[in-house]
Amino acid sequence: MRLDDTYGRPLRNLRLSVTDRCNLRCHYCMPEEEYAWLPRAEILHFGEMAALVDVFIELGVDKVRLTGGEPLLRRELPRLVRMLAERPGLRDLAITTNGVLLGEQAPALKEAGLGRVTVSLDTLRPERFTALTRRTGHAQVLEGIAALPRVGFTETKLDTVVIRGVNDDELADLIEFAKRVPAELRFIEYMDVGGATRWSMDQVVSRREMLAVLERRYGRIEPIVESTSAPADRYRLPDGAVFGIIASTTQPFCAACDRSRLTADGTWYLCLYAPQGVNLRDPFRRGATPEELKALITGRWRSRADRGAEERLALRERAPLVPIARLKQDPRLEMHTRGG
Ligand code: SAM
Ligand code: SF4
Ligand code: SF4
Repeated sequence: MRLDDTYGRPLRNLRLSVTDRCNLRCHYCMPEEEYAWLPRAEILHFGEMAALVDVFIELGVDKVRLTGGEPLLRRELPRLVRMLAERPGLRDLAITTNGVLLGEQAPALKEAGLGRVTVSLDTLRPERFTALTRRTGHAQVLEGIAALPRVGFTETKLDTVVIRGVNDDELADLIEFAKRVPAELRFIEYMDVGGATRWSMDQVVSRREMLAVLERRYGRIEPIVESTSAPADRYRLPDGAVFGIIASTTQPFCAACDRSRLTADGTWYLCLYAPQGVNLRDPFRRGATPEELKALITGRWRSRADRGAEERLALRERAPLVPIARLKQDPRLEMHTRGG
């Protein structure tokens, strides 16, 4: 089954946020002191998540990425992993985590059938980690990353949000670290998403700048030509090592975007920047049949015309996307609720 939106982009990739809670407070994602959380009664149970994922699978989704908040804070997560891993229609089941709880959970996640892991790692320096996340835990993150190959995970990725004056002096160090894991490093441009209330364009280090810095260090960097819907453009260093850059701010990839997001309370977003989502929880809890849910999702995806990051790029004056007061009224506008 292939369901296309108005630009011919298929519904294929679902990011499933299992919690809006987090054990870190990254400066680019959760810089505030206080947060409004999703009401507990509205958080989907695993059975509800799996049933909704089934509907998406029937409509063409074959990749699911668990995210959050911090997904490893959701109790008994391996149970959900096991339920989803059994779905024959899923080609790829992955997770994005900050890694703090990974060391203790990696064996159970592997055993439950999780396919791949992406760990967010912005710095190799413990004191910088503490300043950036306002929490301790850097050693745990490194331990979590080290546990991955030990328990048999391969195709590990490390994601780094690059911010000027914060960690832009660590690009080569991070690449060297990733080689040793082994993992593929991906640099992400700092985005002006909901929740990034301290964002400004002058802190964005563009793909072009990153490549210039890395070419000075490594010599010629060769772009890898491939046609996928993956957001990262990949590059090869003279020694063969591969890394990626996600130029989501300066060269967005909306034209090929096949991803949508389901928050932990069952709100479905067709774009990371969309002001509104579709409430799937209420119809589901009122007993809507899979066919009725399919009709709802199909109708919305067919009329999808979102190109959020491209529209932001076209603006002359760019300030943070959502004012703090609005974020407090609707936590679903936050990156940590939508899952990144
Ligand atoms: N807590 C998990 C983690 O950090 O990996 C998963 C959720 S987090 C919202 C998912 C991804 O979004 C992370 O890789 C994070 O670095 C990224 N992210 C959050 N805010 C961002 C921003 N303003 N610009 C770019 N990436 C951002
Ligand atoms: Fe950091 Fe992820 Fe938590 Fe956001 S959700 S504060 S990126 S760890
Ligand atoms: Fe997809 Fe929206 Fe992100 Fe563009 S901004 S890549 S349409 S989610």
